[in-house]
Amino acid sequence: MELQSIRSHFPILHQEVNGAPLIYFDNAATTQKPIEVIEALDKYYRTDNANIHRAAHSLASRSTEYFEQTRKTLADFIGAPEAETCIFTKGVTESINLVAQAWGRKFIQAGDEILVSTMEHHSNIVPWQLLCEEKSATLKVIPMSDSGELDMDAFYQLLGPKTKLVACVWVSNALGTINPVKEIIEAAHKQGALVLLDGAQALSHFEVNVQEMDCDFLTISSHKLYGPTGVGALYGKRHLLEAMNPYQAGGEMIKEVRFEKTTFNEIPYKFEAGTPNIGDVIAFKAALDFVTKTGKSLIADHEDRLLSHLLEGLKKEEFHKVKLIGTASKKVSVQSFLIEGKHHFDIGMMLDARGVAVRTGHHCTQPLMHRLGIDGTVRVSFAMYNTIEEIDQFLHVLKRICAR
Ligand code: PLP
Repeated sequence: MELQSIRSHFPILHQEVNGAPLIYFDNAATTQKPIEVIEALDKYYRTDNANIHRAAHSLASRSTEYFEQTRKTLADFIGAPEAETCIFTKGVTESINLVAQAWGRKFIQAGDEILVSTMEHHSNIVPWQLLCEEKSATLKVIPMSDSGELDMDAFYQLLGPKTKLVACVWVSNALGTINPVKEIIEAAHKQGALVLLDGAQALSHFEVNVQEMDCDFLTISSHKLYGPTGVGALYGKRHLLEAMNPYQAGGEMIKEVRFEKTTFNEIPYKFEAGTPNIGDVIAFKAALDFVTKTGKSLIADHEDRLLSHLLEGLKKEEFHKVKLIGTASKKVSVQSFLIEGKHHFDIGMMLDARGVAVRTGHHCTQPLMHRLGIDGTVRVSFAMYNTIEEIDQFLHVLKRICAR
C-alpha cells in the first residue's frame, strides 16, 4: 500500500480539533483504527454475532471460524510455530498478569530472583512485585544510562543462578528505546532463566519473529497495533504453557467438570475462561492484515524519516529550551521532551489548543521518571499515517510555545 493513501483509511484523522486539523501524535498510547477494522466490527455484529466454540448453528460456527482465523493470522504475524501458542487476553496488562499468576505462582519459590528493567511500564513491574511478595522472591532492576539505554554490564552482573525470569520491555513507551532483547534472551537462557518480552510498543514498528528471537513469552496489545481496545494476546512456548496452571477458571477452560475433580482443556483454551471479546478479536485480524498489507519495512522506514525530521527540526536555535528525554541510538518514532520553565501538562494543553494531540505525564513509568529526576514528559509518538507536514506544523506551534 502507498503511504500517501494510508490516511484515507483512517476516518478519525479527517477532523478539526479546536479549530485546527487534528494532528494525532499520541500513538504510543493507542493507535487509530483503519476503516477495515471498523467495518469488520460492524459486520460481525450485523451478520455473525454468536457465542463461539459451543453451539452447532451456522452463526456460531461462523463466528468461531473468524475468531480462530485471528489466532492463525496473529501466529503468522509474530512467527509463532502454532496458533495454539497464542492466547487471547484483554491486552498486555492481562497477558503479564497471566504469566505472573499461572507460571509464577507455580514455579517461583522463596529466594528466586526476577529481573526487570528501569524503563518498564507499571504493568511489567507490579504483577512481579505482588508475586515476589507472595513467594518471598526478589525483584531486581537492570539500571540504564541517562540517554535511556540499558546498562548491559550491570545486567550481566545481576543475572545469576537465582534468576528465574527476565521480564523486559522490548521498546520503551516513554523513551522509544529499542532494547537489546536478543542479547538478553541468549544470556538469560544460558543461566536457565526464562524471558518475557513486553511487546506492546514493538509490534507496530518492526518485524517480530518469536522463533528467531527465542523469547519464552511475548505480550501483545491490539490497540497499539491499529486494532480494537480490549484485545491482546500472550504468546508462550508450548511446553511452558502446558506446564502452567490455569489462570482464570470457568467455562471453556475445562475438559470435564465433576464435583470431585475437574480436568482442564488444551492450550490455548485452558487460559481463555468465559466468553471472550469475540467481536474485537475478529476485528483485530483486519488490523493485522492491514499492517501486513502496508508492509512493516515501509512503515519502519517512514517512521524513521519522521523521527529524523523532528530531531533535525528541534536542533534549531528557537528550540534551545527544549530538552530531549530518551536519546538512545536505537529508537522507534517516540520522542519525549521537556521545555525549560514550562510544565509538561501546560505544554500538552497548549498543543491541544492548536489541534495537536500528545501525551503528558509519567506514561505509567514512574520508576523511570524517578530515575531521570523528573515527574513527567511531553511525548510525541508517530504512526504510519503521520506526515512530514504534520511535524512541520507541530514545530511551528512548539516554536510559539517556546517563545512565550
Ligand atoms: N507495556 C507498555 C510498554 C505499554 O506502552 C503499555 C500501554 O501503554 C502496556 C504495557 C499496557 O498495555 P495494554 O494497554 O495492552 O494493557
